[in-house]
Amino acid sequence: MDNCIFCKIGNGAVPSEKLWEDDKFIAFLDINPINPGHTLIIPKGHVENVFAMGEGDYAAMFAAVKKLSGPIQKATGARRIGLVIEGFLVPHAHVHIVPLNHGGELSFSRAKKAEPGDLMETGRRIRHHL
Ligand SMILES: [Zn+2]
Repeated sequence: MDNCIFCKIGNGAVPSEKLWEDDKFIAFLDINPINPGHTLIIPKGHVENVFAMGEGDYAAMFAAVKKLSGPIQKATGARRIGLVIEGFLVPHAHVHIVPLNHGGELSFSRAKKAEPGDLMETGRRIRHHL
């Protein structure tokens, strides 16, 4: 879709702090993280929401979520990795992968814009563990 920010990130037209990708999916750091290391994974092709994805793609995306969770946890030292599927802001399927240290942290009211340098450093640390 022409005006979809996640389609533009998926095809590289909009830059992101990319952690991982394959032919169908891309994972990158959220620029408004709840905690450092807050990651988004999206299908590169436009799909309105995760439950509209085919079974194979849905399973493949969650396999990628699992693959990313260990490196994100190691790089951030977080006690847990939380997931959120919500999709109120961008109508393109995405899963939030959020490092957590305490119960109750998984709230977008805690999200703050990250400094570009901090995103780069966090991205470098996570990619090191992938
Ligand atoms: Zn899209």
